[in-house]
This record gives sequence, structure tokens and C-alpha cells, in this order.
Amino acid sequence: MDREEIWKHVLAELELNLSRASFLTWFKETSIADVTGGAVTISVPNGFAKNWLQDKYHKPILRALRNIANDIREVTYVVGAPERVGSMPRQKPRPTPRPPFLEIPQERLELRESSVDPESGLNPRYTFEHFVVGSFNELAHAAAQAVVKGLGSTYNPLFIYGGVGLGKTHLIQAIGNEALHGHPTLKVRYLPSEKYMGEIVDAINGKFMNQLKERYRSVDLLVVDDIQFIARTEKMQEEFFHTFNALYEKNKQVVISSDKPPAAIPTLEQRLRSRFEGGMIADIGEPDLETRLAILRAKLQTKNLIMPAGVLECVAETVKSNIRDLEGALNRLVLRTTMSAAPLSVEEVKKILSQVTSAPRRFASPKKVIRVVSEFYDVSEKELVDRSRKKEIVKPRQIAMFLLREELKCSFPFIGEKLGKKDHTTAIHAYKKITADLSTNPTLEVELKTLKERIYSSA
Ligand code: ADP
Ligand code: MG
Repeated sequence: MDREEIWKHVLAELELNLSRASFLTWFKETSIADVTGGAVTISVPNGFAKNWLQDKYHKPILRALRNIANDIREVTYVVGAPERVGSMPRQKPRPTPRPPFLEIPQERLELRESSVDPESGLNPRYTFEHFVVGSFNELAHAAAQAVVKGLGSTYNPLFIYGGVGLGKTHLIQAIGNEALHGHPTLKVRYLPSEKYMGEIVDAINGKFMNQLKERYRSVDLLVVDDIQFIARTEKMQEEFFHTFNALYEKNKQVVISSDKPPAAIPTLEQRLRSRFEGGMIADIGEPDLETRLAILRAKLQTKNLIMPAGVLECVAETVKSNIRDLEGALNRLVLRTTMSAAPLSVEEVKKILSQVTSAPRRFASPKKVIRVVSEFYDVSEKELVDRSRKKEIVKPRQIAMFLLREELKCSFPFIGEKLGKKDHTTAIHAYKKITADLSTNPTLEVELKTLKERIYSSA
């Protein structure tokens, strides 16, 4: 057996235990670079893939290799030139990279949205298969899979939290879809909490509260999305509490999503909080660059489309905050190319991306930056914008300057004038200082992240 054949066998075995998305993400463009004695060297496309394979897939890779040749003792990974492997699914040879240009087979362009199942409320599009796993969502993903395998017994409830557009709805619906797939007779209900609240109001008005209670208390798996809304009113929490208990006592599974962990939802009643904390709580963070790229590739793959790497990298680098925007940017690019035969220019790609990324910035203003910074560091707004040279003012003022530049793209003269009636060199100095500090001070990074969240929140 030659190297290529050995690797084909290994991949075939690995693929059995991985979702398609993960498999493609981590094993695309891998190959065996060398086999010497009992040592195998695997070539991977980049350093990120190298670390990931080493950390997460080393054992299964070694096992699969040993199934073929049991004298193999050692596996190492090198970043090398991609060598195509025959068994890997390929769409089409890539065109020789001409600058940003999308190649889309016209007949494949139906961007159909699958429809929601009226019985369960689930959208069949949200599956584990299409869910890319990286370090940012690994725990949540593992917990979700464990829940499907042991409904009502492994973790109950499962509480998933994370920021907007990071995959909460996708993941909790995937639990429902997967459970139904394994047991088609299971009663599964996906319930966005706004819908639940609407139903409660209607039921109270129409006096059919008992029917509503019955509807949710007879399910096997209840998936409640965005529970933070329920926490806004006592009546809703009251209702939910009883439904939750009824299910919990019967060992029925409850899965919940929220934008914050239970302890950080201020209006959440204590009894609900302790219920939630009695189960499993897992967060979804923000994907890093490589994972964003992997997600884009997976999305293209499901749409059967091809784009030169340059465009995808540009998207992954520009759209950082969430996966929904990432997908939105991709869809816009795809749409744009279908409307015109001319290839996309770099400028156009950038313009389309700026439309996507500038949307959430609408709440930010210099005034808000100043208010948020002064509240955060507990200094007065007046001192911040004044000439005050007090020591405790220096850092907050520099941070405010940095944020005005970095987030709002204000000019340095404007920033200097706004904060302490200083000239532009002071503002430039502050910007450089904070940029330098950021590379050595992880605490500062966390502070800035919090500040940005507050700056862009609607409050
Ligand atoms: P949230 O509920 O956290 O606001 P969603 O679940 O609605 O986010 O996700 C937003 C979009 O991003 C959806 O279209 C979803 O399919 C996609 N998405 C989120 N996470 C992933 C992932 N890990 N892999 C692939 N697609 C994802
Ligand atoms: Mg959601």
C-alpha cells in the first residue's frame, strides 16, 4: 500500500466518527508526507490545523494507522505544501487564482431555506452535521451531544449561553433534530421564549391556560430559546417554573439558551437560577480567525459554491464579531455575483463587507464612549474631558482616546480636543500606548472587551 492509499483508509475511518463539517475542516488538504520505519509524518495545511490535530485527533489517527500497519509507533505533524488526496471530496479544480472573483455554477444557486416542522417547531437546517466545532464552542457542542445520548439523564437542564449570532439557536435546535432523528416518535418542542410569552398572554385572555400548561408538560424534550426574555416578568417565570418542574420530575430533558449565564441575569428569580445551575452550563465564545475561515468554507461547501481563498480570507478578517454576520456577508457576496456577470473587484468586496460590519455600530457615539469609560473606571465625566492631570484620570482618558480612534475612527485632533483640550500628539501617544500595553497585558484586553460591549449595547 502506498502512502496515499494508507491515508485514504485512515480518513475513511476517521470520517465515520466525525461530523462532515468537522471532518472537512480539519482533514482537508492533509496527507502523509513520509513513512520511515515506524514513524509517520502527516502534512497539514497550517499551524492551526497542526495544533488541533495534535491535541484533539492524535489518538484516533494513531489508532487508524495502526489498524493498517501495526508497527507504527509514532506520528508527527508538519505544516507543508498541500498534497491532494484522492478520497477527499473535491468540488472542482480551483481556477488559477485571479483576484477576487467568484465562480458559481448557476444551477446550484438556489439558496433555499428549509421550512420549519410545525409539530416540533424545529428547522431541519440546524443540524450537528452543519455545525463547525472549534475551541470557542467545543464545550457547548460536547455537552449538546452528551444530552442527545442521554436525554433527561446526563445533564438536566442544559443551559447554553453566549453573544448574538454565535450559534446558540443552531446548537439547541440540533439537539432537537438529532433526538428526533434517533427516535421519531419522541415529542420534541422548540420554543422561542417570545413565542411562549405570547402564548401565555393569549391563554390568559382566552382562558385556556390549562391547555397551554398541558401542551408543554407532555413533551419529552423542551428546547427554550433566549430565556432572558422570560426573566423580564414574574408571571412568565412563574409559569415556566412550574412547567420546568413538571418536566424535570418526570426526567424529561430541558435545554435552554440565553445571552448570559444564569447568575448574570439580574431579574432571574432565585429558584429558577438554582434550577438552571443544577444542570450543565456551557458557553459559546467568539470564533478565532482560522475557525471563521473554516465556517465560511463549510458554508460554501453546503451551498456547493466555490470562491477563491482571497475573498474568504478577506471576509474572515473583516467580520469578527459573529457567525450570523459572517454568513450574511457571504450570502451578499454570492448574491452580488449572481446579479452581474462581471467579476467582483476588491473594492466591491470591501464595500459589501463594510455594510455588514457597520450595522451594529449604530449606537456608538463619542458621548457614549466617554460615559461608559467614566462609569467603568469610576471617574467623573467632567474630569475625563477636562484638563485634569490627576493620576487616576490618566489611564481612563487614554483608554477613551484609544476607543474613539479604534472604534469610532475619530480623527486625532478631534480626540485631543474632546478629551482634555490637548493637541493631536497627545491623542496619538495615548493610542500607541494602549496598543502597546494590549500586547502584554491580558487584563487590559478583557477590560476593553467589556467596555466595547457596553459601548455597543443599546442602553
Ligand atoms: P444565536 O442563536 O447565538 O444568536 P444562531 O444559532 O442563530 O446564533 O447562529 C447564527 C447563524 O450562524 C446561523 O445561520 C447558524 O447556522 C450559523 N452558525 C452559528 N454557529 C455555527 C457553527 N458553529 N457552524 C456553522 N454555522 C454556525
Ligand atoms: Mg438565537
